[in-house]
Amino acid sequence: MVETSDGVRGRVDGREALLLCSNDYLGLRLHPGVVAAAAAAAAAYGGGSGSSRMIAGSLPIHRELEADLADWLGTEAALVCSSGYQANLALIGGLTRRGDRVVSDALNHASLIDGCRLSHARARVAPHGDLAAVRRFLAEEVGEDAQRFVVGEGLYSMDGDRGDVAGWCAAAGAVGGHVLVDEAHALGVLGPGGRGVAAEAGAAGDVLARVGTFGKALGGHGAFVAGDADVRELIVNRGRTYIFTTGLPPAAVGAAREGLRVVRSAEGDELRGRLAAAVGRFRRGLRDLGLGGGDVDDAAPIVPVVVGEAGVAMATYEALLDAGVYAMAIRPPTVPDGTCRLRFTLSANHTADDVDEALAALDSVSPRR
Ligand code: PMP
Repeated sequence: MVETSDGVRGRVDGREALLLCSNDYLGLRLHPGVVAAAAAAAAAYGGGSGSSRMIAGSLPIHRELEADLADWLGTEAALVCSSGYQANLALIGGLTRRGDRVVSDALNHASLIDGCRLSHARARVAPHGDLAAVRRFLAEEVGEDAQRFVVGEGLYSMDGDRGDVAGWCAAAGAVGGHVLVDEAHALGVLGPGGRGVAAEAGAAGDVLARVGTFGKALGGHGAFVAGDADVRELIVNRGRTYIFTTGLPPAAVGAAREGLRVVRSAEGDELRGRLAAAVGRFRRGLRDLGLGGGDVDDAAPIVPVVVGEAGVAMATYEALLDAGVYAMAIRPPTVPDGTCRLRFTLSANHTADDVDEALAALDSVSPRR
């Protein structure tokens, strides 16, 4: 358990450590403006929204946040949901009908997988990053009125690589299908102004809907779907995890609005610059240690060090925590068997010294395969 934390350092299970596994990429979770906005929204609207959005739980600040999000991403509409997990279930469940075909990347987040499972669509799982398989599954025979979808992530949460959004759009477009992208780990961080991987790939306009979360770079809690007004309408009417749950609490809405304001401001650019510097230093250091690191020019803040079996991952995690660095071991079912890893995530608040300290600790525990 993380007992105390200033976002960079804290106490984990009684041990003081440098924290390197939160999704608070821009350090906004403890940003004074974000915390104050949460408190102000609670003071103005109460501790909870009081009801599901459909009944009495849609407050003016939900609508204001939706307008901000649509304006930021250049979509007709946005819909605020209570979590990313629920947003993905509501999106896939809301848009698909019995007999539809969904092609889902093998490394998609559990919420996308469960969204497929709970929908009445027929899902096909394409090996990660295999565009030919996506095309093949899209080409399969479906009923006359069936729709076809490709579902993937902007930045993959456990591998830190990007989804081929432009490739998916071309493949889906060729058969009159649609693309849904979960940008949970990319929004606020990657792409122009932090608008994500679809925007970075120049494909945002070809994507039917994008999901973003407030619990990562925006420093709060909750999520949204952005797309056309009719996509919003379908989720409002058919997305069960949107309909049958209490609306996002005012404090979370307030935090998200302020987090978004910062992301869109010059301060957001500065934070992204600092994050990219920390990521670059960490990736270069890993490469020098022979531990991977990927493309050292890649600003993506998720950097896995794959060690293999679960026992090795846990032993490395413990040794690293003893050496003063907290990076949780990731094991099945979150990742496939034999690919257990320490998943490092960087924050804009990590300094060069922090990064060097983490690298020295890693070197001392030698997690080589
Ligand atoms: N999508 C992805 C890619 C995620 O990594 C996560 C959470 N880690 C979610 C959705 C779920 O978001 P939330 O935590 O807001 O439910």
